Amino acid sequence: MKEGATQFICSQCGYTSSKWLGRCPDCNSWNSFTEEKIEKSKKISKDSIQTNSVPLSQVPYESEFRFGSGIDELDRVLGGGIVRASSVLVGGEPGIGKSTLMLQVVAGCSDKRKVLYVSGEESASQVRQRAERLGLNLDRINILCETKLDRILHVLEEEKPQIVVLDSLQTLYSQEFTSTPGSVTQIRTCCMEVTGLCKRIGTSVFLIGHVTKEGTLAGPKIIEHMVDTVLYFEQASMGVRLIRAAKNRFGSVDEIGIFNMTGGGLEGVKDPTSFFVSERQDGELPPGIAYTAITEGSRTFIVEVQALVVDAKSGYSRVYSDKIDNSRVTRIAAILERHGAVRLADKDIYVNIAGGVKVNEVSVELALALALWSACSGQSLPPKMVCFGELSLAGEVRPVNYGDRRLKAAYEMGFDKAVVPYSMNFEENRILLKRCKKVKEAFVFKK
Ligand SMILES: [Zn+2]
Repeated sequence: MKEGATQFICSQCGYTSSKWLGRCPDCNSWNSFTEEKIEKSKKISKDSIQTNSVPLSQVPYESEFRFGSGIDELDRVLGGGIVRASSVLVGGEPGIGKSTLMLQVVAGCSDKRKVLYVSGEESASQVRQRAERLGLNLDRINILCETKLDRILHVLEEEKPQIVVLDSLQTLYSQEFTSTPGSVTQIRTCCMEVTGLCKRIGTSVFLIGHVTKEGTLAGPKIIEHMVDTVLYFEQASMGVRLIRAAKNRFGSVDEIGIFNMTGGGLEGVKDPTSFFVSERQDGELPPGIAYTAITEGSRTFIVEVQALVVDAKSGYSRVYSDKIDNSRVTRIAAILERHGAVRLADKDIYVNIAGGVKVNEVSVELALALALWSACSGQSLPPKMVCFGELSLAGEVRPVNYGDRRLKAAYEMGFDKAVVPYSMNFEENRILLKRCKKVKEAFVFKK
């Protein structure tokens, strides 16, 4: 394509097309295409200047490869702390708490390291007020209110902070391009220049990126491949925030960080085992509730699966489920219908997880089946019973990973029964086990 011509770019994923499209063929977003000029950068980046190769044995060890951010929940998601000269994208919806957390991070690091907070969103005095509200030490946090890329690069090169936060990616712009801040071209260029420079000078950089559903701003997905680590903020329930790594060059992606939003900022939840379970005083469970133990990285939580089954309003069955994938719920309902003698074909099915956490583990399938059976039959499950297992299409209950961890977490929370796959072995169990080969066997209880 010629320079000066225009092209249409998907603001969510960066897919390009010569004509406007209503729906992106790559990421399936609707109305996400914006028109942008094709512009080529004339500047040769300093990073592209060829340097010599060296034998691996002569590469010096980097001292202090990782350091703590002062926030344990974040450190764990990062894989054990902030990696020197790494780039981290922090994505999430506006107002979810990204700036608050990042301000807490720079404050937490500022006693030992030189830190810089670049704000393109708020004025210096607004950031100061926020930091004061959070009770942070203001003396050692440097702030720069700037959106022009060249000036930011200049300050970084001069001051060489060890940690820099850019708030936000969508406000930055390079004067080399005529497209507006927040366009795909600008976001790509700014991210590349900043991360390139930070790598060279040994600065760890956090880029805040807003995720908007309207597609008016280009989404952070466009730069996921340019950074080392991608973290996404989610709201689980009122005042509860989860951080997950969608990509991590320096650690695993299955750890989650759990925070409570308080007046003093985001506070890590230290022991989340029982965090997602509703309190019930009388000990009896209503029908449609089942407990399961899920694993996220190094931790295990007990979660409550809730199901509601009512006569279908429109003549055919529909599934409403946010927290467990719809297709999984539909599949489990079909398995129950065929192998569990539970009639669901003319029902609407509602499924939820208390506390709002999303569950993607296969181990939830047995609990989902029990919750649906309980909702349909009107019979409550025993109140202190946990269950986990995968279901095959033939109605078999199949083993899952981390059986011992799950039982231990349940025992510590006072559970005394567990429904588990027949062929699983456990090292020690202090819980009464009911082993099932078929899903139907799980529906018989001694109260
Ligand atoms: Zn797209």
